[in-house]
Amino acid sequence: MASEIKKIGVFTSGGDSPGMNAAIRSVVRTCAYLKIECVGIYRGYQGMIEGDFKTLDARSVNNIINKGGTILKSARCEEFRTKQGRQKAYDQLIKEGIDAFVVIGGNGSFHGAMLFNQEFGFPVMGIPGTIDNDILGTSYTLGFDTAINTVVEAVDKIRDTASSHNRLFFVEVMGRDVGHIALNAGVGAGAEEILIPEQNLGLERLLESLKRSKASGKSSSIVIVAEGDRTGKNVFELKEYVEQHLPIYDVRVSVLGHMQRGGNPTCYDRVLASRMGVKAVESLLEGKSNYMVGIRDTKLVLTPIADAIKAHTEIDEELLRVSDIMTT
Ligand code: ATP
Repeated sequence: MASEIKKIGVFTSGGDSPGMNAAIRSVVRTCAYLKIECVGIYRGYQGMIEGDFKTLDARSVNNIINKGGTILKSARCEEFRTKQGRQKAYDQLIKEGIDAFVVIGGNGSFHGAMLFNQEFGFPVMGIPGTIDNDILGTSYTLGFDTAINTVVEAVDKIRDTASSHNRLFFVEVMGRDVGHIALNAGVGAGAEEILIPEQNLGLERLLESLKRSKASGKSSSIVIVAEGDRTGKNVFELKEYVEQHLPIYDVRVSVLGHMQRGGNPTCYDRVLASRMGVKAVESLLEGKSNYMVGIRDTKLVLTPIADAIKAHTEIDEELLRVSDIMTT
């Protein structure tokens, strides 16, 4: 019942992503606006099990909308995967008087929240916070827009060197299971080839494409490689392979790594986080539970967590086609 919720817990879980702070701020300020209490739970499910709580008011979240990372810290917690661990977490929440929680995280964090809701009937609401954009039920996850902008900026810089020295660069970006970062940033940065987990174009096609590129007079080449690409070779092996088969190329490798997770969130991520935080709290107060807040066609929508975690989002076929045409 809506009127029963007087105190909401909020936490971040799994890998951090830019926009998490903006979402925390939004949850806290919405609670303040609606005159209910808000409690920050530190270090995700680990902190929940240990009772690492702190009451947050509207002023506790000053000047964080622009910050990457998460002021509530994030953690992975093996104990929460067990029934006993979840029981401990439940006992801590009840002791603190928390009636519902908002979890900001990815698939795993949502899975945990769903089980928790099923076992204890505890109201939960999810906000998708992950740079991978791999969650069903939302066109954007918090941090994705910032991450692709970070990658584009980095590749633009690498391009300066690539074109000054007529070099080919393999740039590895995050994405073990999905290629959304690689595809979007690759198109945005004008990459010559994009290798993603969803597609195995084969090494022959890569060589063909690079040959064509050289013959057409291009002075530099950038190949974006998602971590989970299916060529069976990592970026360093790809470098060796191309050097062996196409000695005309002077090849370099750049692994962007964790810089893709950090940094100030873009305006898009800040606005989305602010909207999602309001929707999450209001939905809980309306008596809804076990949903994830998402965005589709610019409108906020709720998707049952059970559906959101069913599978990864599929790659955008239209964007793949655009990418093919652009590399002509
Ligand atoms: P990212 O997308 O960044 O990996 P995530 O939320 O998927 O974020 P995970 O490490 O998979 O990150 O999950 C975070 C935490 O959620 C885990 O450490 C664990 O405490 C909890 N969790 C994950 N899967 C389950 C599960 N099946 N049952 C219970 N709890 C889970």
